[in-house]
Amino acid sequence: MPTISGIHHISAIAGPPQQNVDFYVGLLGLRLVKKTVNFDDPGTYHLYYGDYLGQPGTLLTFFPWSDSLKGRSGLGMATATAFSVSKDSLDFWMSRFADAAYEFQAPAERFGVPVLAFEAPDGLPLELIAHLPDGDVPRAPVPHVPAEHAIRSFHSATLTIAQPENTARLLIDTFGYAEVGEEDGRLRLQAPGDAHATVIDLLGPPAERSRMGYGTVHHIAFRAKDEEEQQAWREAVASQGYNVTAILDRQYFRSIYFREPGGVLFEIATDPPGFTKDEPLETLGTDLKLPPWLEPQRERIELRLLDLHLPTEAS
Ligand code: ZN
Repeated sequence: MPTISGIHHISAIAGPPQQNVDFYVGLLGLRLVKKTVNFDDPGTYHLYYGDYLGQPGTLLTFFPWSDSLKGRSGLGMATATAFSVSKDSLDFWMSRFADAAYEFQAPAERFGVPVLAFEAPDGLPLELIAHLPDGDVPRAPVPHVPAEHAIRSFHSATLTIAQPENTARLLIDTFGYAEVGEEDGRLRLQAPGDAHATVIDLLGPPAERSRMGYGTVHHIAFRAKDEEEQQAWREAVASQGYNVTAILDRQYFRSIYFREPGGVLFEIATDPPGFTKDEPLETLGTDLKLPPWLEPQRERIELRLLDLHLPTEAS
């Protein structure tokens, strides 16, 4: 059986789409790597952010549901999404947030590493984890942020679970994660290998009751190398009694979904074909992309979507 090498993407429900673009591109310096629609609800955007190449392990995606209520992150959810930055980058980020009048918490230590917690404008809980060695700078361009302080990838996701031991068993026994630490009721699991985004933290109660809505994570996707490996995962997960979907074509990857024992929706997504499937690397995220089966409805879909503007480089 293969092992999971880490997080592929994290998808969340967002507030207004322009606010979303302004925050993730303009303030955090991620790249908008795909502008498409929710294939299950083509009247709403599906926005994908990531590094310049749109690599698995860097992809944060949003469904901006304008008529959704504000959600509350809590039990049975991913309650924090954490990014990796360089060791000495938190001062840069704190002054950047202060200049933009964004609130953030005082940095705290976790497993011996500084963590800066803050929220997106719609309330999504985010963290910067300052652990990368200095000089580990991205080779590709980063918008808005100096390369040495840029967000590199996900570091981890924190799941808040009533009985974390059941989720831990799935991650360890089936996915191949290993327990690497425990601190203040937080169990840290890590995938083998040297990919990005290898860490999952599990927190137990007490926790707030959760409510799905904008500002909450909808699901977490893990990586499968290819379709063959995904098929093996599908069989492995089904054989343990999980109710797993058929393989769905998400255009830029193929996906299966199931709910883990603590209630978080898990997806296993293939690395290929990736975001250059329908536009060149240099112009990723520029035009509205639709899958072939929605292309005949393009005019109607575009009428229902607000125009989005990428923030211009001010500095
Ligand atoms: Zn997904």
